[in-house]
Amino acid sequence: MMTCTHLDQIDRSVTPSADGCEECLKLGDTWIHLRLCLICGHVGCCDSSKNKHATAHFHATRHPLVQSAEPGEDWLYCYVDELTMEPGTGALWSGDWHVTPR
Ligand SMILES: [Zn+2]
Ligand SMILES: [Zn+2]
Ligand SMILES: [Zn+2]
Repeated sequence: MMTCTHLDQIDRSVTPSADGCEECLKLGDTWIHLRLCLICGHVGCCDSSKNKHATAHFHATRHPLVQSAEPGEDWLYCYVDELTMEPGTGALWSGDWHVTPR
């Protein structure tokens, strides 16, 4: 099973940078779902949104890990490993993840 080697880069003290996609808010644009960068707290829109700012943030910064910012969702995604990870039974961002290939 593949594992993500980037989990130790997560900054557990990050706070979301905005209430919505930072770039879309500036553009006055809309989004479908939001992703939170776990390295710096950037909030961007998902790949179902037309602007795909979360992915653009990864390409600009190489920050590999995002978490879903949707209510009731707390899965993680690693852009480098292309892995979706569900939180384990422990505390969020504990590093104890159940990894599920996409
Ligand atoms: Zn990774
Ligand atoms: Zn956006
Ligand atoms: Zn970031």
